[in-house]
Amino acid sequence: MPSIMWFRRDLRLLDNPALLAALAAARADASADGRVVPLFTVDPVLWDAAGPVRQAYLSRSLAALDKSLGGNLLIRHGNPIEGVPEVVAATGASSVHIAADFGPYGRQRDSAVELALGTVPLVRTGSPYAVAPGRVTKDDGTPYRVYTPYFRGWMRHGWPKPAADVPPDANWWQAMACHGLPVAPDLGALALPEAGEQAAWQRWEQFRTAGLSTYSELRNRADLAGTSALGHYLKWGEIHPRSLLAELSDDDEVFRKELCWREFYADVLAQNPQTARLSLDSRFDQEMRWSDNADDSFEAWATGNTGYPFVDAGMRQLRTEGWVHNRVRMVVASFLIKDLHITWQRGAAEFMYWLRDGDLASNSHGWQWTAGCGTDASPFYRVFNPVLQGLKFDPDGDYVRRYLPELAHLPGKAAHEPWLRPDGYQGGYPERIVDHHLEREVALANYSAIKKPTA
Ligand SMILES: Cc1cc2nc3c(=O)[nH]c(=O)nc-3n(C[C@H](O)[C@H](O)[C@H](O)COP(=O)(O)OP(=O)(O)OC[C@H]3O[C@@H](n4cnc5c(N)ncnc54)[C@H](O)[C@@H]3O)c2cc1C
Repeated sequence: MPSIMWFRRDLRLLDNPALLAALAAARADASADGRVVPLFTVDPVLWDAAGPVRQAYLSRSLAALDKSLGGNLLIRHGNPIEGVPEVVAATGASSVHIAADFGPYGRQRDSAVELALGTVPLVRTGSPYAVAPGRVTKDDGTPYRVYTPYFRGWMRHGWPKPAADVPPDANWWQAMACHGLPVAPDLGALALPEAGEQAAWQRWEQFRTAGLSTYSELRNRADLAGTSALGHYLKWGEIHPRSLLAELSDDDEVFRKELCWREFYADVLAQNPQTARLSLDSRFDQEMRWSDNADDSFEAWATGNTGYPFVDAGMRQLRTEGWVHNRVRMVVASFLIKDLHITWQRGAAEFMYWLRDGDLASNSHGWQWTAGCGTDASPFYRVFNPVLQGLKFDPDGDYVRRYLPELAHLPGKAAHEPWLRPDGYQGGYPERIVDHHLEREVALANYSAIKKPTA
């Protein structure tokens, strides 16, 4: 009997233990000719939540996967709780293989599919992480709540070497009617990088040769392309973090640590599934005073019209590229929460709508880190000054001019402070909607009014 490889966030052939398990199961049965049905289900729950950028990216990534499977990817649209058993019934498959999902929705979905499959096993092999959530714990078995000791535990735990390659004679079987690629929305002028496993490896090789050695020095510079830009490839599993870790040397500690942040946040979310939408520190949802009349200021923030160039450039980059530099993500998030007094959840939803690398764990906890209400969070009183951050991490103003044509006439770092120049607003750039120094005091007062944590 054949087996089914149900792809989800692992859209690759290389270093894919679940796929190897599916192939091994099919080969173990002489009557199956080693046939594996490579399946992807377009689940309306996840598809509708993805937003146009990730929908378009996913559609392209599936097209690339289909090509590498010789056009045999079986795409079915609909609820997988019904869809996967239908494929099993139509093919007579003896097992369904997946990489484990640790997200709140994915875990529940997989349990429901498992139940619906009855006697046909749902076999979990590997995960989207080098070390699966739940594996790295303190000596007493409880989860870490602080990153640095988690990182040490993660290093001690270690991870396996990349999995073997798929045998060249793998026998893919489409088996039944394919519903076709999900129709991607038109993104207008928003440009996406090339999708797929091959593109992921090309980007990694480019970064490994030309960017890795300067990563620790340049990664905070918003004006330079000093980071890997691998986030979307990792998000969809077009490349596995284990494949990257295997190619790092002792000198690449800073990059290794960044990969570990992704694993840490996945672990935190798996241990605290409610933190996908709620603050880990519940005082922020229950007691903190937030702005009552936030719609206009939210709109100004979301469209990049707050009058603070570093913030506005970040939000316009988000809508132009579906991506924002990490330093700028922190600054725009801090501005929304601490200058506009708007909850992190609204900002996180906006990011998830637009980001091509939008990932529930990294996004919710990146926001909570900035808000000061998550695990290992930056303390609330750390309020980023949007002007000083701009001057430091975009010293010549190139980043803000790239996204804000209204400031193109201001040379060098002058683009960060148009209010200092008589011609600062001649390009039509908006005036500041709030006074940062004043709003900082308001944020600190709101924070000091909430009760101290009990534990
Ligand atoms: C408010 C906020 C929201 C964020 N939302 C997301 C998100 O939705 N998806 C996402 O992948 N990352 C998110 N991040 C983390 C980080 O900004 C991105 O991973 C990074 O900018 C992606 O660019 P890169 O691939 O060039 O990163 P690089 O600097 O090259 O890092 C390599 C990889 O390490 C991981 N990584 C790096 N920094 C972090 C971090 N702080 N947290 C978790 N993983 C990290 C990512 O997988 C990244 O691709 C968020 C950060 C903040 C402050």
